[in-house]
Amino acid sequence: MSGTVAEAIADARARVLDRIADACARAGRDPRDVTLVAVSKTVPAERLVAAVAAGLTTLGENRVQEAEAKAAAVPGATWHLVGPLQSNKARRALETFDVIESVDSLELARRLDRIAGELGGGPRPVLLQVNVDDDEAKAGFDPATVEGDLTELLALDHLAIRGLMTVGRLAATADAARPTFVALRELGARLRGLRPDLGPELSMGMSDDYPVAVEEGATIVRVGRALFGDRPPA
Ligand SMILES: *Cc1c(COP(=O)(O)O)cnc(C)c1O
Repeated sequence: MSGTVAEAIADARARVLDRIADACARAGRDPRDVTLVAVSKTVPAERLVAAVAAGLTTLGENRVQEAEAKAAAVPGATWHLVGPLQSNKARRALETFDVIESVDSLELARRLDRIAGELGGGPRPVLLQVNVDDDEAKAGFDPATVEGDLTELLALDHLAIRGLMTVGRLAATADAARPTFVALRELGARLRGLRPDLGPELSMGMSDDYPVAVEEGATIVRVGRALFGDRPPA
């Protein structure tokens, strides 16, 4: 039963991919259209080396400093920033992460664009974090006004806006999270109707509700505990 760390991770990965495939089957979607981001905050680098070897090659972190240390020790992974980014860490974030999912204001987008231009290397893929639940505790663009910022956002030469991301409210059941996912999908569809150059990604769903998010159109799910086990209390 116990097996190695690598086996445990490989088993957890297989279970999560199975549930994604089942959700895709229910929704008539292709599982290849869903990217699993393994959210690895608090998981030590040694375990992440095993995770990458098991095929979890896209890792999500919510802190720049933690990710910097791990990125140096864990080769072969693609890194997504999924947590709030303070403007004074924008440069380090661009140096460490391949994708910044948590662009939550026009100001931050402008700053990332300017620094990405200085760093070179082409437009950086980012997502716009939208607070679709209008949750005071959550960051993000206001779904009612993001449309007004879209022209400027899409004109930023050094950012490639690949789509939208949201962090749902803590829900008692997976199904209770469904309206959040529907809201993000509908917002994405409406915004792309206005601006077809907005990318198609929808990053939504975490350990407790990613199958529901996939049913509702998630192209990126961000799963931590279901892969790595419970995190130590913060
Ligand atoms: C921690 C975190 C996740 C993963 O949460 P789990 O419940 O462990 O799956 C996803 N998204 C964000 C933004 C997070 O901070």
